Amino acid sequence: MCKRCITKSVIKLSSGESLCKSCFLKYFEKKVRKTIRTNKLVNKKENLLVAVSGGKDSISVLQVLLSIYKGNKNVKISALLIDEGIKGYREECIKKTEEFCKKNKVKLNIASFKKEFGFTLDKIVKGRRPCSVCGVLRRSLLNSKARELGGTKLVTGHNLDDEAQTILMNQFRKNIDASSRLGPITGSENHEDFVRRIKPFYFMSEKEIMTYAFLKNLTQEFSECPYNVNSYRNQIREMLNKFEELYPGTKHSIVSSFIEILPLLKKKEKIGKMKKCKICSEPSSSEVCQKCKVLDEIKSSKH
Ligand code: SF4
Ligand code: ZN
Repeated sequence: MCKRCITKSVIKLSSGESLCKSCFLKYFEKKVRKTIRTNKLVNKKENLLVAVSGGKDSISVLQVLLSIYKGNKNVKISALLIDEGIKGYREECIKKTEEFCKKNKVKLNIASFKKEFGFTLDKIVKGRRPCSVCGVLRRSLLNSKARELGGTKLVTGHNLDDEAQTILMNQFRKNIDASSRLGPITGSENHEDFVRRIKPFYFMSEKEIMTYAFLKNLTQEFSECPYNVNSYRNQIREMLNKFEELYPGTKHSIVSSFIEILPLLKKKEKIGKMKKCKICSEPSSSEVCQKCKVLDEIKSSKH
């Protein structure tokens, strides 16, 4: 039973509070607004590009932003989708995203690995770790396309669960540098070619987003990428979910304590040294960017 209005509850939050549909939707949007405000994610004038994949997180973040900035002419919102070329999976996601964008009058921009790099992910994946290659190329393409489209910020649907997993993964692998690049807003402020990334769902749990998507009718069958199996992240996810069940609030504690030490990590990180990649001129922390290294490896393995 929802204590706020004495109607049937739809969700029990990790705080122990149960909420009905109407109170939950209000709570959800309010919490996202608070994340945006306290972390200064969105300025008065913005051209936001939402990175959409067709999954519940990205479609939900797009939906919430449309609702928050409805009627605000200074905050423009459009969508950007990367088609990696994953047969039997991506086509369906594109279809769902197109339907959503058409219904909500959002401009959808699509960029593909095939067009930009000359191959699909399926074609080059054999003998490689799919998510590593995909992640590097997608990140780079999102940045260059967002910049081309005049985007002032790139919005992602990363949530509390994703962030808690990444924090632990970096901790387990002693990858402090990678952790220093996390947080609700990321990317160099001082690099003209870098479009900063924001995560309005930083404090929203996967369970909350699933409930939101369900209540807003955004959940058709959300299929999983076929390459998303047996990954290190999946094992961490399972472990964290078990802990969350035993000790509700665990994920939130991981992320909120991380936020407290993040300024110290950022100070320690070798920042301010963003350069331009000597091959493609994209922003890079080393002489040659990760994307060019990956592309070079793929090219040389063909010979
Ligand atoms: Fe790419 Fe891996 Fe995500 Fe699939 S699960 S879209 S391969 S990063
Ligand atoms: Zn490069």
